[in-house]
Amino acid sequence: MTEGRTEGGQDARAGRRGLILILSSPSGAGKTTLTRAIATDGGWGLDLSISVTTRARRPSEIDGRHYRFIDREAFEDLRARDDLLEWAEVHGNFYGTPRRPVEKTLAQGRDMIFDIDYQGTRQVRQRLQEDVVTVFILPPSFSELRQRLERRAEDSPETIERRLANARNEMQRWSEYDYVIVNDDLDESFRSLQAILTAERLKRSRRTGLPAFVDGLLAEAGRPG
Ligand code: 5GP
Repeated sequence: MTEGRTEGGQDARAGRRGLILILSSPSGAGKTTLTRAIATDGGWGLDLSISVTTRARRPSEIDGRHYRFIDREAFEDLRARDDLLEWAEVHGNFYGTPRRPVEKTLAQGRDMIFDIDYQGTRQVRQRLQEDVVTVFILPPSFSELRQRLERRAEDSPETIERRLANARNEMQRWSEYDYVIVNDDLDESFRSLQAILTAERLKRSRRTGLPAFVDGLLAEAGRPG
């Protein structure tokens, strides 16, 4: 039985408000891999938020799965209609989180994971406050970050240079986050992320079903056996 499924049992007994887990990091620190791993790997019950972006699709990316790739005009439209929970300009492109899927997921008491930058994180935190848990991923070294971006070989050399320049700025935001993981080893980082999620789900303040559950326990305790 995975820890995720155990947690599902806790839910069934005690009910819980949904939470939003946000992962941020400079490009190439491994955040996208971690986000997708926990969203798809057995039993963690996390919906992945699919952002919209005006960035060009990379060869390995699938529209609707990694992002919804839209043009600038469509992006402006979404923004004007307040259909984005948050948005930001990153590396010269626009990115945003569609609001409706998030509201729907939270209303169902389910959790959602976001892979967004620090600007978006600030906006989501402001709007949803205690429902938000933030994790910052750091690379073990700057040279490792460069190597990872070059190994990925999906971006032009100019894009890589721009991302490295931005990485310096982004890394300075680490202190705005609840948790920090230095991603030396992907398996270990994945375990750390699972531990964060498990602990946050067990927080008393999120367990809206606990009073009724404990009342039931007490009623049972008061009955003659
Ligand atoms: P990439 O172009 O490498 O996929 O993403 C570039 C940066 O944009 C990453 O730091 C990623 O987390 C961030 N990003 C992706 N989607 C969103 C979004 O919807 N909102 C915000 N604010 N940032 C995003």
